Amino acid sequence: MTPPTETEAPLMRLRGVGRSYDKGTRVFTALRGVDLDIRPGEFVCLLGPSGCGKSTLLRILAGLDIATEGSVLRHGEPLRGVNPGTMIVFQTFALFPWLSVSENVELALKARGVPADGRAARAGKLIDSVGLDGFESAYPRELSGGMRQKVGFARAMAMEPELLCLDEPFSALDVLSAEGLRGELMELWLAKSLPTKAVLMVTHNIEEAVAMADRIIVMARDPGRVIAEIPVRLAHPRRPKSAEFQELADEVYGAITGRLAEPAALVPVFTLPQLRTNAVAGLLEKLAGEGGIAELHRIGAELHLELDDLLPIIESAELLGFISVIDADLHLTPLGRNYADADILGRKEVLAARILRLPIFARVLMGLRGKPERRAGLEELASWLEPDIARDDAAMIDNIINWGRSAEIFDYDDDAEEIYLENA
Ligand code: ADP
Repeated sequence: MTPPTETEAPLMRLRGVGRSYDKGTRVFTALRGVDLDIRPGEFVCLLGPSGCGKSTLLRILAGLDIATEGSVLRHGEPLRGVNPGTMIVFQTFALFPWLSVSENVELALKARGVPADGRAARAGKLIDSVGLDGFESAYPRELSGGMRQKVGFARAMAMEPELLCLDEPFSALDVLSAEGLRGELMELWLAKSLPTKAVLMVTHNIEEAVAMADRIIVMARDPGRVIAEIPVRLAHPRRPKSAEFQELADEVYGAITGRLAEPAALVPVFTLPQLRTNAVAGLLEKLAGEGGIAELHRIGAELHLELDDLLPIIESAELLGFISVIDADLHLTPLGRNYADADILGRKEVLAARILRLPIFARVLMGLRGKPERRAGLEELASWLEPDIARDDAAMIDNIINWGRSAEIFDYDDDAEEIYLENA
């Protein structure tokens, strides 16, 4: 039997990793069955909508959270406690406001056991390497968001982590600062001037992932899981306008929306996206204006919508039968075209007719009609929705009320907390 050697083992190896939370009456699964290797030299992106478990996965890798299932190995050995080889940079900078730039970085050096007399010089070098030369004695409040995030990078680098974890590091910055900082980070990484062996970055921005990653891990929620792994073999510097770049972005979009086409039986519980009727109408109008077909990737960019905003709109439109998603293209259905062409009243009628075809709403309407007063409280509504929707899933019940009201299938009495039929 030959023991595995250091060089064979990846920096981190996850096998069958799950994380669930006991929520009293039921168990909530934030992550399920995650297999993931991170090897030296890789820049990996975790991509997916909010709530798919990206931050949970990062925390598990950093040893700040514990997997309730599966194994977490570091250099082939089970990880116990905090992972000494990782550092996380958060989107909100998390600098100490009462310490100068240099002192913020020195604190990290102190934590790593660097002797006091060498700290200032080391901190100076790190600050220089992120382009903040001359700002050593400035305080965080005197810096722009982009500069503060650079201090965050310098501080993380002071720890010389073998795995640098970035949790949406650019999402709190304005577009231009984010772009600048992304470019600078990439330059440092490609020039191998970062004292780190691998980078794992969480993002929900598809372009950002395609621009930076060697490999994109696509995740979905309910339960949080990995649904695709897409290698990115484009040379740097990558050109977002090039055909190869766009093709890859399309492939990633396709992977994310592909799950919308999963057969219903695979979806564990009935889920309903947030319905924003104006946004759905806007999307359909845009599609109609483009001859009924458009690449998802381009629509998202042109409407300036991030994944978290775009996905519920697409899910709603697809659920209503207004569009179909085929590969990474949106196709307007004849019904969707009718909706786009109709006036406000016509749209309401189409919407109501479509929503009533969803069994959940048909059941609610039947329940209301079965009652002489044509009214029901939330408890009773919840009992009609079971078992598709958990009785204590208040957010989903709220959402169902929203859908019903938008389509004027029923109304809601805020004071009595009851739904009712308008023309009873
Ligand atoms: P993401 O980073 O992709 O937005 P998270 O990892 O933050 O997702 O969260 C995944 C899911 O796990 C979310 O639905 C979140 O509400 C849930 N979750 C995270 N932490 C806890 C916790 N301590 N207790 C209960 N649920 C949690």
